[in-house]
Amino acid sequence: MSETPDVGRGTEAATGRVSAAGGTALGALLGTNTGFGANPAPLPFPTVSARLARAERYELQGVAREVLGAGHRIRGCLRYRHFGAATVQIRNRRDTGQAYYSGLQVCGLAAACPCCGARIAEERARRVELAIASWRATGGEVALITLTFSHHAGQALAPNLDALLAAYRALVRGGSYRRLKARYGLAHFIKGVELTWSAANGWHPHLHVLGFFVGAFDVAAFERELWALWLAQLGRVGRSCARGYGLKVQQGFTNAHKYVTKIGRQWGLADELARANQKRGRGGSYSPPDLLRACRDGDLVVAPVLFAEYVEALHGRHMFQWSAGLAAAVGLADERSDQEVAEGVDQADPVLVELDGAD
Ligand SMILES: [Zn+2]
Repeated sequence: MSETPDVGRGTEAATGRVSAAGGTALGALLGTNTGFGANPAPLPFPTVSARLARAERYELQGVAREVLGAGHRIRGCLRYRHFGAATVQIRNRRDTGQAYYSGLQVCGLAAACPCCGARIAEERARRVELAIASWRATGGEVALITLTFSHHAGQALAPNLDALLAAYRALVRGGSYRRLKARYGLAHFIKGVELTWSAANGWHPHLHVLGFFVGAFDVAAFERELWALWLAQLGRVGRSCARGYGLKVQQGFTNAHKYVTKIGRQWGLADELARANQKRGRGGSYSPPDLLRACRDGDLVVAPVLFAEYVEALHGRHMFQWSAGLAAAVGLADERSDQEVAEGVDQADPVLVELDGAD
């Protein structure tokens, strides 16, 4: 097959009531499935905006494919049959009712691919939410620590990202930081990186570190002490920053920062950590999907170069990390690989339609 139509939630809407018993898909489409015995509860009906967002991801994936060229791994993602797969199936996810393909090649590239990236970000956010809830349920506190430094237009992304990560590595390996952690009860973390670009200030890489603290702590004092350590590490990698910009510690979002997403949900700490690179930039800044949107909307000069630079700079880097022992501490299994998450096939999910080479 050469083209992948969107099997989005529109399909789910039509087939959402299909029971696991085979042969009911057509019945569902014809609206004749109401009599099937042990049918699960009706599935949530997706909003129009959620369906449009999904359609846009496929569109932006097409843009990314063009920008990154024929030799890039994204080329075959969700377009060609998986090596060795005899057929392609449309399955129905048992828990959400979402329809999805199996048997297709999937690139699993969180940064390059809008489709895989969204699926990976969703899984990450779901796990972070579970971790936060579990941690808080036992009296723990969480806080989002954002670390960055001054940057300006014209600087390449990769060296800035290297400097940021080097400063953070040196910070966490230092004895001062270990003592700070011990005094404030910082037991675990989840680390992610957010990247935006603006014409005024160029690439803006910043680290998000969700800290898991054993109990309540003095946020302002922690921030003050951490700032001194961070500034010292920035100096070692030849960077600097003004207080109040280079470090921020938040236990939640103030009303000014809270906003409702397009799917009608409030944006929380888990979203900020795990979905940061999926959201739209604000105030003249572009997120990676914004760069693809700019390409789509006619910028064929600057935006493609920036998006390719972003993908290249992140190539081979693992940009999302849980501290050792956190998953066990909050009762979760270890993270699956991005590839596993992006493929997301559960063989127990019922097959609605099977497509062979002739389809
Ligand atoms: Zn992909």
